[in-house]
Amino acid sequence: AIDFKWIRENKEAVAANVKNRNSNANIDLVVELYDKLMNVQKEVEGLRAERNVVANRMKGKLEPSERQKLVEEGKNLKERLVTLEEDLLNLTDELQQEAQCVPNMTHPDVPVGGEDCSSIRKMVGKASEFSFSVKDHVQLGKDLNIFDFDAAAEVSGSKFYYLKNEAVMLEMGLINWAVSEVMKRGFTPLITPEIVRSSVVEKCGFQPRGTNTQVYSIEGSDQCLIGTAEIPVGGIHMDSIIPESSLPLKYVAFSHCFRTEAGAAGAATRGLYRVHQFSKVEMFILCRPEESNSFHEELIEIEEELFSSLGLHFKTIDMATQDLGAPAYRKFDVEAWMPGLGRYGEISSASNCTDYQSRRLGIRYRPESSIPPKKGKGSSTPTRFVHTLNATACAVPRMIICLLENYQQEDGSVVIPEPLRRFMGGLEIITPKI
Ligand code: AMP
Repeated sequence: AIDFKWIRENKEAVAANVKNRNSNANIDLVVELYDKLMNVQKEVEGLRAERNVVANRMKGKLEPSERQKLVEEGKNLKERLVTLEEDLLNLTDELQQEAQCVPNMTHPDVPVGGEDCSSIRKMVGKASEFSFSVKDHVQLGKDLNIFDFDAAAEVSGSKFYYLKNEAVMLEMGLINWAVSEVMKRGFTPLITPEIVRSSVVEKCGFQPRGTNTQVYSIEGSDQCLIGTAEIPVGGIHMDSIIPESSLPLKYVAFSHCFRTEAGAAGAATRGLYRVHQFSKVEMFILCRPEESNSFHEELIEIEEELFSSLGLHFKTIDMATQDLGAPAYRKFDVEAWMPGLGRYGEISSASNCTDYQSRRLGIRYRPESSIPPKKGKGSSTPTRFVHTLNATACAVPRMIICLLENYQQEDGSVVIPEPLRRFMGGLEIITPKI
């Protein structure tokens, strides 16, 4: 349920927002289609009323010539109605398609502009210092015999990988650690389906089809592989009304993620950095609208706690308007220092999507009115859309990059940070195989 009327009434602000976000949504066309739709709807209502008048008159006593006239009139009205009702359906479809591209509005504190305009919220920790020349994770993985990119390239294609030996423990340990840590903070754990309907992908604000899509769709079906657990978690409460007393709903979901990475040519693609399939632990919150900004802060704080506890050096960033994508009202990314790659790399992203996804997915709640309803007046207060937020707890491959590159030793071994050890059968160090 996109609020076309609101877009119409706030056309200027919506158009300015579209420009700030460098979105290709066409607000003039959305408004034009909406106005047309309203006119046709009015006409349809008028004709229906006329038809009712004619039908009522036919019930009375009439001269045959008069009756004949009314029959003709009724027939005429019906024909015009059929055409207009068809127009109504087509216009609704067209409007829905166009409005689908309109991005969420933007938090007033978000810096306006491209990537360079994003502002740093916080710097945490310091870059590790090394007295020897550091290796990147690809070299480390090779020397430790824990990855196989060559076999994966043969079996699957580029940007795939096998994890072997301690890397398997590392992946499973990281997942278990992240889920446990977030569960401690009151989130409900989930493992989600990894194939979903294209309509759900679309309602979450992703484009399931097209030339530049990030989404793998399954030929001959209306289903896709998920790019993130946000999609199946968002879908759980689709088309439902949640009692206010159940809010907030907080989930921590594990899934594999599949991405075509279309348009990523030239971007950093070495090793595990940008791959087609990876494991991720994702946090997701559904809450009352007035609480979403503070839950957004809570999510970024959880991320900061998790990454600090592993001793990483990172910065958190308030992403600029052109880097928000369509669903986010505001987005905080975390970029961590990767000494082998010699740069910061994005390891997580926390977004407040306000009602962008809930409107499309139909997720509402019924506020509990403080005044009890009067007898016979119906018991329900109007429903409202919830707000949704999502944030990465642990995107495994990039976390593996950080751990290997930051905790490498001169002899080529890698020390496992203390909090992870109990999730890896007590493993303290990964040593090179000779
Ligand atoms: P996103 O859902 O796009 O915000 O991504 C969440 C996190 O997943 C990012 O911050 C990265 O750490 C990680 N990530 C995204 N795409 C990839 C990829 N192709 N390969 C590995 N990790 C990725």
